[in-house]
Order: sequence, then C-alpha cells, then structure tokens
Amino acid sequence: MVTVDDRGRVLDPGYLYIEGDRIAALGAGEAPDSLRAGASLMMDASRMAVMPGMVNAHTHLFQTFIRGLADDKPLLDWLAAAIWPVAHALTGEEAHLAAMVGLVENLRCGATAVIDHQYVHTDPANDDGVCRAAADTGVRLLLARGWADMDYPPPFIETPERIVAETTRLYERWNGQAGGRIRVEFGPLIPWGCSDETMRRTYALARQWGAGTHIHIAETRAEVEMNLQKRGSRHVEWLAALDTLGPDVQLVHSVWLDENELDTVARYGAVVVHCPVSNMYLASGVAPVPAMRERNIPVALATDGPGSNNSQDMLEVLKTTALLHKVSSLNAMVLLPEDVLWMACRGGAAAFGQPG
Ligand SMILES: [Zn+2]
Repeated sequence: MVTVDDRGRVLDPGYLYIEGDRIAALGAGEAPDSLRAGASLMMDASRMAVMPGMVNAHTHLFQTFIRGLADDKPLLDWLAAAIWPVAHALTGEEAHLAAMVGLVENLRCGATAVIDHQYVHTDPANDDGVCRAAADTGVRLLLARGWADMDYPPPFIETPERIVAETTRLYERWNGQAGGRIRVEFGPLIPWGCSDETMRRTYALARQWGAGTHIHIAETRAEVEMNLQKRGSRHVEWLAALDTLGPDVQLVHSVWLDENELDTVARYGAVVVHCPVSNMYLASGVAPVPAMRERNIPVALATDGPGSNNSQDMLEVLKTTALLHKVSSLNAMVLLPEDVLWMACRGGAAAFGQPG
C-alpha cells in the first residue's frame, strides 16, 4: 500500500478498511480480526498497488473527440486549425458525452479528481453537461469556468456581465453538489484574452465565495512576448500587479517564467500545474519544475486536453515528467518516482484547495 503520506510510507503488507464511501482504517500488516469480523466484502489485493487517487489538475474534456485532429502544430496554429472550429460546432449533448468518455478514461488511468477548464459556452448546457458527467461517474470535479473578454475569436468572447452571471449561475447550481464532489471556480483563459478589469472583478468575487482561479500562463514564449509588447510585463508580473495571485490561484503551464517570477509565485503561494505531455506535443518548452520545487512551490500534474495529448493517461504523465526533467537537466536524480507520485496526489490536492 503506497500511502503518499508525509513520510512516504509503503505498507507491504498492508490493509485498508472502507465504510460507505470513506476510508475508515488502514495500517501495516494483516487486518485485525475485529475489522475482518465486521467486513461484508474482502478483497485480496496482493500483487497490486493500493494508492490514493491521482488528481488530473488541468484538462479540457470537450476535446475528447478532437484527439489526433491537428498533430504537429505549435499552439497558436493548433488552436486555429482544430480547437476553435470544433468548439464552435459543439452542442450541449456532445459536450456531455465528451465529458463522460473523458472522465471514464481518467478513472481507468487512476485519476479520481479532475479540474476541467471548460471554456466553450456556445451552449450554456455544455457546462451543466460536464457537471452531470462528474455526478454520474463518481469523479471529484473542479469546474474552472473559462472566459475571455477580448482579443479572442468572436464566437468565444463574452461580456464581463455574462461571465459573472453565468459563473454565478453555475456556482449556485453545482458548487457542493454530488456529496460535495463538485466545485466551481473562475477560469480566465489566457492573459492575452482577459482584460485587467474583469480579472480584478472575477478574482474579488472568487475570494468572496472562497473559490479559486485557474489560468493558463506562459505556455509559449510568443504569448509572453505579446504581454510584454501590450502591457509591458511578463505574465506573473502582470498577475502580481493586478493583485490576483495567491494560494487560491492555479497557474497552468508556467513554462516561460524567469527567476523573479518564480520567486513571486513562491511568495504568493500559488500552485503550478505542469502538463509535460502537452508541452512536448505542442513544442511549447520545458517548465522549470526543479527550480519550482527548490522554492517549495506546490506543483500539480495534468494531462491537459486530449487534443494536445491524445489521451488522459496520468500514469503516462508521471513517467513523462520524470524523464523530461532528467534529460533536460542531465541529472538522473532530479525527480524520483516518489516525487512525481507526490506531485500527482499531494500537489494535485493543493491545486484543488483541499488539505494535503
Ligand atoms: Zn489547457
């Protein structure tokens, strides 16, 4: 039994006792007779690993039906070639089916909690469809309701009023539902599509609700360059200047951060979500994960959407994370298997805003 606790204990043999939908007891050795006597079902899990469910801290489930459609392209070309046209045509029912298939794939690969950065609101039923899929599959879902209010393809741009009204509707309808498994937060898409005013407004509202904020930042060098030209700041500098950084903020990708930005992320206690397969697929770059860990920045792991990964396999993400940073640092010890497992479970819990 791989506990992923503070001491990294592996109990072999070990036992686990479940009551209803809760772990009631666990320990090393054989299960005590008192527990055996009360058990209605016993499972022999020898030759298996029992471990906490992993957290897939960033995906876009609507892309389940887009995988493989635009391989071999950089981010901005890939968005225009495959993601935007399909997203524009998506119906509420298709969004629901895509989420069902995507969540089952997450469960099959060991992820029991998923953050869906859902930004396709051509039909408001899309968002409800994702929440229904989580309720039906048993997954713990954090719906980061995506938004852009400028400089984005017109079908996906919303007014600040609509962004606030729809997120409020979803929060009231779904937050805390399915036995507390479903939560809702704000999901500003990317710095170049989000105005300063709406960033400040939605962050203030999220704080008031006790909800989080989930945003793609510094995925590609081109996007950082755009912000420097338009606003005169790098992405983390921009977030800090807006006063929209904190432990309740999940910074997805964070590939192109400089040393000062890393220090700022650490100072504010924000969580980084690392998506190595997607970063390699789109040739975006190598996130400075070892430098983040040196600064005690919590790092969660994620697949990203199936469109830039072609799967939802978190075990593949664990292996890729370790290998990518070993080869890019030329240091075989830089990330150990227990480190990446910790990131997938405990780092993911930090992204979810759950106690580790
Ligand atoms: Zn993404």
